[in-house]
Amino acid sequence: MSTAAVSTTAPGSVTVRVPAKVNVQLAVGAARADGFHDLANVFLAVSLHDEVTATPAAELRVTCEGPDADQVPLDRTNLAARAAELLAARHGLEPAVHLHIAKRIPVAGGMAGGSADGAGALLACDTLWGLDSSREELLDICAELGSDVPFSLVGEAALGTGRGEHLTPVGAGTFHWVFAVAEGGLSTPAVFREFDRLTAGTDVPVPQADPALLAALRSGDADALAAALSNDLQAAALSLRPELAATLDAGLGAGALAALVSGSGPTTAFLVHDPEAALKVAAALEASGTCRTTRTASSPSPGATVLPR
Ligand code: ATP
Repeated sequence: MSTAAVSTTAPGSVTVRVPAKVNVQLAVGAARADGFHDLANVFLAVSLHDEVTATPAAELRVTCEGPDADQVPLDRTNLAARAAELLAARHGLEPAVHLHIAKRIPVAGGMAGGSADGAGALLACDTLWGLDSSREELLDICAELGSDVPFSLVGEAALGTGRGEHLTPVGAGTFHWVFAVAEGGLSTPAVFREFDRLTAGTDVPVPQADPALLAALRSGDADALAAALSNDLQAAALSLRPELAATLDAGLGAGALAALVSGSGPTTAFLVHDPEAALKVAAALEASGTCRTTRTASSPSPGATVLPR
């Protein structure tokens, strides 16, 4: 498995680069007794990154820069802070570290931005403190932090089962994407509650990975992948944010091969053939007035990686 990218930016600092994700398949089962849902979740890491820099400090502190920085909590609820606390507690250390997040991943956008920062902070602190934890130890802490955090650490392409935290790497060729960032976020738990409401009284099938989708992913055939993309949370996200339908239509009208809500939304994802098509679709989406901004990216992308100084 590959790791989240890490970089060291100043003497005594460690910087880790960590990717956003898009779910190319998100199959959701019925709510379990514990309230969680079993998933068959095919994650793809994309070249849209946050960077987390860890620097020794008197006490735990989080700062954040970027266009959405005002929406990021800077207290102990930040997943980066929680990662540092969990790692320090396991080793009997004080989490005496300043974590600075350079935020490029949309906040509350269904692209696992908070999870990315959790995985990034974990790898940055592990490196800064010279702990040299095994991949299994780090993955264990990631799973404690949240269902999407283990994937942020390993990146590339993987099938997640259980709540999404049990990962099996899958092969993936190169694909090109446009992401339309919506105004405001959507709460992932609220989208799952809406899924429960919409599916109440129906037979929700046991979630399973789609063999046609995995084959398309492996082959790098964008047309085949376009035909196989699916997201069981899309109806719930559209129910809460009906205006997203116009965004999906605008991207398809501009020539995207396929369009879907990314995870729990409200970011929408558009699959295209090549980087030129990505620029064209992004420009059309921006001109349509149906989204706040766009990002272009390719996949797969490595997981959390320490950056060279
Ligand atoms: P997912 O795709 O994993 O469901 P998401 O991309 O929809 O997540 P996040 O960007 O992870 O959503 O943010 C969800 C909420 O988590 C935010 O509204 C914020 O309150 C909280 N949060 C905690 N830590 C962070 C962080 N480092 N960056 C962004 N949000 C964070």
